Amino acid sequence: MAYGAHVAQVRLESVTKRFGEGDDQVTAVDAVSLDIHDHEFMILLGPSGCGKSTLLRMVAGLEDPTSGDVYIGEEWVNNTQPKLRDIAMVFQSYALYPHKTVRANIEFPLKVRGVGKAERAAEAQRAADVLGLTDYMRRKPGQLSGGQRQRVALARAIVRNPAVFLMDEPLSNLDAKLRGDTRAELVDLHRRFDSTFIYVTHDQVEAMTMGSRVAVLNAGRLEQVGTPQDVYDFPASAFVAQFIGTPPMNLLPPGVLGTDDVQVGIRPEHLLLTPGGRLQATVTQIEHLGHEVLLHAESAAGRLVARLAPSAALPAMGDSVQLDADAQHMHHFDATTGVRVS
Ligand code: ADP
Ligand code: MG
Repeated sequence: MAYGAHVAQVRLESVTKRFGEGDDQVTAVDAVSLDIHDHEFMILLGPSGCGKSTLLRMVAGLEDPTSGDVYIGEEWVNNTQPKLRDIAMVFQSYALYPHKTVRANIEFPLKVRGVGKAERAAEAQRAADVLGLTDYMRRKPGQLSGGQRQRVALARAIVRNPAVFLMDEPLSNLDAKLRGDTRAELVDLHRRFDSTFIYVTHDQVEAMTMGSRVAVLNAGRLEQVGTPQDVYDFPASAFVAQFIGTPPMNLLPPGVLGTDDVQVGIRPEHLLLTPGGRLQATVTQIEHLGHEVLLHAESAAGRLVARLAPSAALPAMGDSVQLDADAQHMHHFDATTGVRVS
């Protein structure tokens, strides 16, 4: 059987999760509705504590929603046990069995299912080939690097051939270089599988580089769902605008370059040194990053960051500069609600 021969859209309808009672009650997830398409690589993105893990755990069946409905495929699964949901979950802390070999770790879920020895070996071999673990099958987890251990955890998920892969910050224990490599591997893995991926991260770079779509969460609520380009180009709220993009979008106080009930936002790459420009500022820092220069400046509208080409004629620290942006590159948000106004 080919990997991932399933139909596996995941649908959340007004899913809410509250923890605790009375004054201690926390609404971890607040009426989230989300359609995740078959074979999609969906990212759940947001700051720590915004409810990402809780949402994922409700898809897995490890938490019960306080209200709302969860569907996998056509099936309503609110009351379905995790092991019957056709999902596999990979966590940040991949609990491998330390005394078992890599091969035995990978085979383990099949053994639990009662799959025969020969078939187990073949399936483990196939997953190991996919993830480049063939040479490590006889080793114990203690003899592997962090990245290799994470791949064993992935292989163990793969042999279960789930309709849906759930991953909760699986790369956060890896160093920067390995994170980059593993990111690319996961994208490749997704391309070769028919399975649906739901991937939790607080790292907007992971979200932008891996996701077919990104769902941005803030304090339990869904702020926006869209392709990485969509959420970058048309952030639905001031929160999304500032959460996605490094350095973040400049958000001006209400009344600056707009009316009193609107906050104007300008991405650093659209804030240009413009003689006669409307934002007067004093240069406080110049960061040379090789491929670009970040200019930091203090203005009556607060701290501003502009992204310049390294070849640009650069001002010096302490210089007075004027900055401005084209109207088409200015984002407008309601000053009270933060919601984008078009
Ligand atoms: P994230 O994964 O985005 O960091 P979580 O889903 O872990 O966020 O948590 C969302 C909120 O729910 C947080 O305020 C957290 O403290 C709370 N929370 C999560 N799990 C529990 C629990 N089992 N009991 C009480 N509060 C919880
Ligand atoms: Mg979490």
